[in-house]
Amino acid sequence: MLPKLLLIEDNPSISKIQRHIAQRIGYEVDTADSLASAIDLIEENNYFCAVVDYVLSDAPNGEAIPLTIGASIPTIVMTGKLDDKTRDTVMRYPVVDYITKESRQAYLYLETQLKRLPRNENVRVLIVDDSKNTRNHIKNLLLRHKYLIAQASDGVMALEQLEKFDDIKVIISDNEMPNMNGITLTSRIREKYNSEDKIIIGISGTDDNRVSANFLKNGADDYLRKPFYPEEFYCRVSQNLDMQENIATIRRQANLDYLTGLPNRRYFFEQANTLLTRQEFAHQVAMLDIDLFKAVNDNYGHDAGDVVLKEVSNLFDTMFGKEHLIARLGGEEFAVLFTNDLHKKNQELLEEFRNKVSQLKLSHLQQSLTVTISIGSVVEDTKNIDELLKQADIYLYQAKEQGRNQLVVSK
Ligand code: GH3
Ligand code: MG
Ligand code: MG
Ligand code: MG
Repeated sequence: MLPKLLLIEDNPSISKIQRHIAQRIGYEVDTADSLASAIDLIEENNYFCAVVDYVLSDAPNGEAIPLTIGASIPTIVMTGKLDDKTRDTVMRYPVVDYITKESRQAYLYLETQLKRLPRNENVRVLIVDDSKNTRNHIKNLLLRHKYLIAQASDGVMALEQLEKFDDIKVIISDNEMPNMNGITLTSRIREKYNSEDKIIIGISGTDDNRVSANFLKNGADDYLRKPFYPEEFYCRVSQNLDMQENIATIRRQANLDYLTGLPNRRYFFEQANTLLTRQEFAHQVAMLDIDLFKAVNDNYGHDAGDVVLKEVSNLFDTMFGKEHLIARLGGEEFAVLFTNDLHKKNQELLEEFRNKVSQLKLSHLQQSLTVTISIGSVVEDTKNIDELLKQADIYLYQAKEQGRNQLVVSK
């Protein structure tokens, strides 16, 4: 189910924009144009979060804020202008954030915050500090943004917590603690995890600049001096997470073939080398090549060719992708490295795939077309992926020679 968002806003054109932004992200949106109607809606619904206008006709001084906060709904406040008095009023409440409507970035920023909240539900943050007060303070700030929490009172306990919760993505650590300080903890974590796995943010109350330098030199991603403004704290945490996510996306994209979404050649070779050293049995590899594919392009056009490639890839992925290492090696050529030693069964699966491809009902611009595929498969003792593919290619060539639409396996 999509999370529900409550929008409290009395200006119809603003609420229309906000509704549009939230729906595009995936929220189901309820709108209230007054405090009174917001009260009714809150009584009848469970809201994941709320976007609240500071000034409403029946609530001119931010009275809607305690309403949503009181109902334990994470609240983002939108204000017309941000003078110090308004800011102080807003900040008295544990709001997620406040956004000035006047600023040109306001709606972009709202969108960012609305995207982060559901994400944070899957991010566990480990708070490491020997002061219970500090831990509680940080915990409350994080809970407001829907993060999951783990806690430790020193570096040794922090390492234990990391073993216990493998969903910890961020570590926020004090430096001065008994048993193991934050800087040592940082270098210990970095022996095992890089920033793509775990983000480390150092915090310290000291004026000594060497502490921040040492945190960073030992592998911390960021540093905050205590006491800090909640706003700065939130920005540091979420910016580091955004960066981590961007890197993960780029990495994913670098491993996938753009047209078909299958793993690409680069990824196949990289993973194959790891797999082959690990597997303690004779390896089975198959090469697959669509028959007379040039003719598909020539007769139906390149777009139709693309449709065929996607359909065949989908089937390939469904039948082999979950268990085995597969790839689009290039053009209309695919490969699979099997991760078991059930050679006979794998052979049957290849035969089933060949048969299903020939029965695929493909259509492009009302033209129906069919394709077939040839397959060469080998079982070899070598751990050299190039050699395995070369051998498979020999049998693939044989399949083509013998009339295509067939599977040829090594004896
Ligand atoms: P064979 O049965 O011997 O394999 O014949 P074939 O026509 O399939 O082999 P050939 O290697 O001569 O032609 C492959 C064709 O695949 C030529 C190329 O234009 C086409 N092709 C390669 N990549 C793509 C692609 O991404 N999209 C489309 N539409 N066509 C592609
Ligand atoms: Mg301390
Ligand atoms: Mg071909
Ligand atoms: Mg080819």
